Amino acid sequence: MTPDEFRATGHQLIDWIADYRRDIARHPVRSRVAPGEIRAALPAAPPELPEGMAAVLADLDRLVMPGVTHWQSPRFFGYFPANAPLAGVLGDLVSTGLGVVGLSWQSGPALTELEEVVTDWVRQMVGLSEAWSGVIQDTASTSTLVALICARERATGFAMARGGLQAEASPLIVYVSAQSHSSVDKAALLVGIGRDGVRLVPTDEAGAMRADALDAMVGEDLARGLRPCAVVATTGTTATTALDPVGAVAAVTRRHGLWLHVDAAMAGSAMILPECRWMWEGVEGADSLVLNAHKWLGVPFDCSLYFVRDPQHLMRVMSTNPSFLQSAVDGEVKNLRDWGIPLGRRFRALKLWFVLREGGVAALRARLRRDMENARWLAEQAAAAPGWRVLAPVVLQTVCLEHAPAGLEGEALDRHTLRWAEALNASGAAYVTPAVLEGRWMVRVSVGAEPTERADVAALWQAMQEAVGSAAA
Ligand SMILES: *Cc1c(COP(=O)(O)O)cnc(C)c1O
Repeated sequence: MTPDEFRATGHQLIDWIADYRRDIARHPVRSRVAPGEIRAALPAAPPELPEGMAAVLADLDRLVMPGVTHWQSPRFFGYFPANAPLAGVLGDLVSTGLGVVGLSWQSGPALTELEEVVTDWVRQMVGLSEAWSGVIQDTASTSTLVALICARERATGFAMARGGLQAEASPLIVYVSAQSHSSVDKAALLVGIGRDGVRLVPTDEAGAMRADALDAMVGEDLARGLRPCAVVATTGTTATTALDPVGAVAAVTRRHGLWLHVDAAMAGSAMILPECRWMWEGVEGADSLVLNAHKWLGVPFDCSLYFVRDPQHLMRVMSTNPSFLQSAVDGEVKNLRDWGIPLGRRFRALKLWFVLREGGVAALRARLRRDMENARWLAEQAAAAPGWRVLAPVVLQTVCLEHAPAGLEGEALDRHTLRWAEALNASGAAYVTPAVLEGRWMVRVSVGAEPTERADVAALWQAMQEAVGSAAA
């Protein structure tokens, strides 16, 4: 493709994306394809001869669109908001258009320094002190993995430079809550802690980790000759956006010299609102934290911000210095390969920079406040309606509910919940996520797609009531 051909097709594609976003509410939110349908419609082997872009574009509409679940729809209330504002789409396009790869400062000076600046902008936006340094990772899963690797190396006095975990005399222990995200458990297993070394700290009735229970568990493990290593606290759990008491947990980790990682992947965005910062009170006592700019904040996936207080330690764990990457300026610059696992990196800072500059931080604050108000409104409707129950405090923008008609309980109630949630999702009117809370199915409504206004939440509430009616029939 020549630059001139790119220009022509590119204009067409920008129009295609613009039309898609303008008309997005016309699509049923959840894709209606059956498993295997898309694959069956595609040729099994690649084309030997050129097919031309016109054929590719036609297949976008014919083959791809039916298999899209519309995350950017105003009626998308599933999982979590993964906003992709159009300014960020353009930032991502520039990143790909430049096609630079950040292996070292020299291989991408702007890539490196823009990332330093925009991660520091976000640090200021969420009210973290200057003691924190940020870097962009792909996902929170990676950020948490990096955090636990750093914790492991600090606890073992750098075992990786000797025999690694295989040569350690006593096992390391990591503490998480039963409400932690599955990525936390996965990271602990991947760093070599093993199932036997992962402790589930009990939570209180609000779903928050009990710091007193944590303290007692650490004490017991120490008495048994084990080595407590790290605690992962969550600000905004996946099921209910519950808040672990970061300050009280930090007091425990400080007393025992443990690494504290804060998983604020979802709720970290809310810290741009001063009125929400109590939610991670004590965060300055943590060693690392993750905040996904690619969720509610609204930078197109993927853009996960990882902040640390001791970048020297991170670099010591992650650094590699092969001859072909050495340069005369290494002493003066940041080499981002030493701040995470991959060697190469995309120019992800561009989309963050575009989003922040196009809209300004004030607009982000207004959008998040709008979403929290809409979530509270929905909870009020449900709390006042016969048969409906709100199952957890609405801390941010997630509402956990069930419809429990008189006489229905246990597994029969579970079946009713799953039936009406499926009826709603199959209708295409909106999309919600059923999830298990304390052993029972409920429905999670996650408010916060960029175009979602009160009218969309009202339409969801209407559609939920209709779904319940059709599920009962
Ligand atoms: C979404 C989420 C994650 C996982 O995020 P990825 O970026 O998809 O890895 C982890 N923890 C919490 C609390 C989350 O909300």
